[in-house]
Amino acid sequence: MFERILIANRGEIAVRIIRACMEMNIECVAVYSTADKESLHVKLATRSICIGGPRAADSYLNMDAIITAAQVTGCDALHPGFGFLSENSEFVRKCEAAGITFIGPTADAMDALGNKAAARKIMVKAGVPVVPGSDGPVESYAKLEKIAKKIGYPVLIKASAGGGGRGMRRVYQQEDLKKLFEEAKAETMACFNDDEMYVEKLIINPRHIEFQILADEHGNVIHLGERDCSIQRKNQKLIEESPCMFIKDELRKSMGKAAVAAAKAAGYTNAGTVEFVLDEKGHFYFIEMNTRIQVEHGVTEAVTGIDLIKQQIRIAFHEPLRIKQKDVQLNGHAIECRINAEDPAKGFMANTGTISFLNFPGGPGVRVDTLLYNGYETSPFYDSMMAKIIVHAPTRLEAIRRMRRALLEVVTDGITTNGDFDYLLMHHPDFVKGKYNVSFIEEHMDEILSWDKAVDEEING
Ligand code: ADP
Ligand code: ADP
Ligand code: MG
Repeated sequence: MFERILIANRGEIAVRIIRACMEMNIECVAVYSTADKESLHVKLATRSICIGGPRAADSYLNMDAIITAAQVTGCDALHPGFGFLSENSEFVRKCEAAGITFIGPTADAMDALGNKAAARKIMVKAGVPVVPGSDGPVESYAKLEKIAKKIGYPVLIKASAGGGGRGMRRVYQQEDLKKLFEEAKAETMACFNDDEMYVEKLIINPRHIEFQILADEHGNVIHLGERDCSIQRKNQKLIEESPCMFIKDELRKSMGKAAVAAAKAAGYTNAGTVEFVLDEKGHFYFIEMNTRIQVEHGVTEAVTGIDLIKQQIRIAFHEPLRIKQKDVQLNGHAIECRINAEDPAKGFMANTGTISFLNFPGGPGVRVDTLLYNGYETSPFYDSMMAKIIVHAPTRLEAIRRMRRALLEVVTDGITTNGDFDYLLMHHPDFVKGKYNVSFIEEHMDEILSWDKAVDEEING
């Protein structure tokens, strides 16, 4: 097995990877920016090394500094976590050239799937259903207008390099097409330094359903069931659960088969996620593949009992998968709530502060992955996600009740979070009934905020 792994990330995902390494008796080296000197991942790692200034470009995105850190500390492998360099094929190639195993897919598989318009083409060839749309990128406005007319409004303009919900615009009528196309192009240029665009039919009120897959280097590919990630704000996930209560065995089988076919078509190895939208009639369409571990991997770990980070490490060490598809069972129900340092009443605006008192829930069926500790000063330089609360229970309703009580135990004095918002969401009758789609938060925002206000007034007068 690897002797020492460098963790090219920060925050709760770095902590999560350290935990897997410790349990596998692998040493781990943390890297950190000057702003992260006092971070939890630095304190927990076997050793740590400073790689640059607070701006991500100067540290967590600085490929040469990270590879040098791995070399001087004698690491034989590197785990990229999510975000930062995790989906950067140039970085994968640099690791390989330096003789360091990148824990993730090959650079070629990453390239094949990283461009979302190109990935669509691969899926069409492999017989995986995609949303009706352009065959590839749309080079000009004139071409876009033609395709949009052909597939019919509403359409969704998307960026080939997109991620995190950026570079996307919904268009309901041709009059708005030009303006929104320019907007989306400008946004993707600013975020990803690339403005290749494509277009899909806008599926009305779909659910976001994604399949976790594991693929080894010996041709074995399995899926670990689905996650329903439809509770989103600004096209970004907030709450995730597994299984999706509306997916029956038969649909799970066919979606799982499509996910495995998608991974095979791209020559994919390691852990990955195949994302679909599922419409109201039960038709599913591939939207993209994420070539890394995901934020919400914990709900799959809960229901399958499979440690995804350990699997990633074993696969990278060329081991064959020991789990067969028929061994994968989804037991009970798991829900994750993300706790972000952001204020739902202020358009989810992010904030920072020093944690003066911290309490996280425990007890049966509760897992907390976090970067917080008492006295920690949160950083304005990085993502606002502070913790993930994951509960597991025999049934969905018990999981909801468990999440409610877990959220009641959360105290993060010093920062404002969406914790209460998550708590209220767990009480919304439509959420409880499972009647929701990707528009849920947008549609119920005012209602939930008014509950919050009412509770606040009752408590504080
Ligand atoms: P998705 O899985 O659909 O991409 P995620 O919420 O998992 O949605 O992530 C959105 C993007 O932001 C991804 O590129 C992910 O790697 C990055 N990201 C999300 N949360 C964090 C975080 N706490 N720290 C760093 N990067 C993050
Ligand atoms: P990103 O790379 O930003 O994660 P995705 O392609 O995964 O972009 O889409 C993000 C979200 O946008 C999805 O989870 C879904 O809610 C919505 N979405 C994407 N494609 C469509 C579509 N064709 N119709 C309706 N909603 C879509
Ligand atoms: Mg996505």
